[in-house]
Amino acid sequence: MISVMYHYIKNLKDFPKNGYLDLNNFKKQINLFKNNYKIQDPFEFINDIRSKKILNKKNILLTFDDGLKCHHDYVLPYLLKNNLKGIFFIPTKVLEEKKLLKVHKIHILLSLNKIKDILFAIEKHIIENKNNKFVYKSLTYDNQNNEKTKFIKNYLNYELDSDLSEDFVNFLFRKFSNFDEKKIFEKYYLNYEEIIKMSKSGMLIGSHSHSHKLLSKENKSNLEKDISKSIRIIKEINKILTFCYPYGGKISYDNRVIDILKKRKVDLAFSVENREIKKNDVENKYLELPRHDCNYFKYGKAN
Ligand SMILES: [Zn+2]
Repeated sequence: MISVMYHYIKNLKDFPKNGYLDLNNFKKQINLFKNNYKIQDPFEFINDIRSKKILNKKNILLTFDDGLKCHHDYVLPYLLKNNLKGIFFIPTKVLEEKKLLKVHKIHILLSLNKIKDILFAIEKHIIENKNNKFVYKSLTYDNQNNEKTKFIKNYLNYELDSDLSEDFVNFLFRKFSNFDEKKIFEKYYLNYEEIIKMSKSGMLIGSHSHSHKLLSKENKSNLEKDISKSIRIIKEINKILTFCYPYGGKISYDNRVIDILKKRKVDLAFSVENREIKKNDVENKYLELPRHDCNYFKYGKAN
């Protein structure tokens, strides 16, 4: 069994340099999967896992992260045309506040051609806050080949504690971009009606936490609040509960997070460990299922 994850399909005109999978390549990849695998309905996939059936190596599950508008505008019509289904993981905060998530502000910042200025601001921030211990450096973004981008993403997403990093990214966003956050927001994320429409068309809607924080660095009470809030919102949309960890690597979640998911009766949770699902994952770890990035397969490289 294989699961594949997608993020941006097609670019937003305002950010031509933001990495994305070209829509035509997405379609080619889906056709490749159609011809070589069985693309499973998520509900069928969950039934197979629950009944501990022998895993079929040729079964593949499609997943889409971050609640992006392009999932409604481009992915949904193509899946429906081909009679296919997938799981869409929503960071539910975007349904409550018209604010861009930090992870996406960083994507936008990196697309502005101001890397040198951003690095300069970060160096200043490191000195001012004495943040010169890099704990996560060797553990993150090993597939990123641009060292500067890797450094910026690592510092802002991992090294800084969430409140400090939230404030600092907001500061950088105001300083280096003159975008109107509300306007971008509308173009960026799915709204509630679109999500309901997707759910009614047979797509499974899952939780990607509420505010897309690095869960392993949050205290227990914040974790409880964030995850419970998100699950409450998802439960209103569909009964089956699935989850995927923000950032998703081994260091992005821990047993405290898994325990909360168990308590909330989440059926399945996905990481971004880059391998196929094995029998052992199904028997012991419904809540740590690996996923391949789409770039693992032909046509999946982002622009
Ligand atoms: Zn995400």
